[in-house]
Amino acid sequence: MIVVDTVDELRQLSDDARRAGRTVGLVPTMGCFHAGHESLMHVARTECDLLVTTIFVNPLQFGADEDLDAYPRHVERDAGRAAAAGVDVLFVPSTDEMYPGGVRTTVHVAGLAEGLCGAARPAHFDGVTTVVAKLFGIVGPCRAYFGRKDFQQVQVVRQMARDLNHPVEVVGCPLVRELDGLAMSSRNAYLTEEERASATVLSKAVFWTSETVVRGERDAVAVAEAARQVMRLEPGVVLEYVEVRRAHDLAPIVQLDGDVVVAVAARVGRARLIDNCSLAITGDDVLVDLGVVAHRPNRQPFQGDIACSA
Ligand code: AMP
Repeated sequence: MIVVDTVDELRQLSDDARRAGRTVGLVPTMGCFHAGHESLMHVARTECDLLVTTIFVNPLQFGADEDLDAYPRHVERDAGRAAAAGVDVLFVPSTDEMYPGGVRTTVHVAGLAEGLCGAARPAHFDGVTTVVAKLFGIVGPCRAYFGRKDFQQVQVVRQMARDLNHPVEVVGCPLVRELDGLAMSSRNAYLTEEERASATVLSKAVFWTSETVVRGERDAVAVAEAARQVMRLEPGVVLEYVEVRRAHDLAPIVQLDGDVVVAVAARVGRARLIDNCSLAITGDDVLVDLGVVAHRPNRQPFQGDIACSA
């Protein structure tokens, strides 16, 4: 694995690979790797010849009152995990390398980026799309892998790639969970032991909600209320939103039909956490996608995250 920190090196390596007839896979991240990140690398590894992963804690996607400074950074440990996952090129640029002279040009995806997480974090998706557009511009034609843990992000980035004619195929990959259901996140490192226990209420809400749909509930208000009821079991968890949306454009719906996402966001201590599940509904039939569980033998579910905050 080669570690590079300049745009020119990354561009050169990607161009050289394609010139040699090799396909390129891209996994953009902010580092502090867990099994969720690694799952993207594993999928990309099987589908592409040159596997590029990037680590950049992108200041542009953090609000002024958010956790940019506190965000966990473990580049050396990440490099070991990336190499083990078969990454060929690890790109770890500085902020100056990504935004020399500051930020002048930004990318905004109207509509998709504005509801759900975009409502509470108004500049967040512009930060994401700006940095991802830059990575797409640097790496060039490739397949780019994103996790459905950040369901809205996948849709926003996919729309951006279409609208800006990026020669990039955006691939959405399954949400990866801890053994007890908690969606893996670098921000789980912020949780105390007690908060960590309460945080499972997000996945419980999502699981229970999918169960109500499987049992026949199709009214969006009732489905959202089912999730809220579960969230109330943990008064220390501050609910930000429960939304039931059409999957492809995240439009609000009244009745559940076709491809639907149920998304939850909440604050647990100083962590803002999100979760979701996808439902494909045809008449009485419901296909439920709750993601996958990372099984790590000989490790307690939470140990990786504690190590991450050390
Ligand atoms: P981040 O480092 O948090 O910006 O995430 C980098 C990529 O990893 C994004 O595409 C995320 O959606 C993805 N990712 C993060 N956590 C998970 C998870 N638990 N399951 C699947 N993908 C994830």
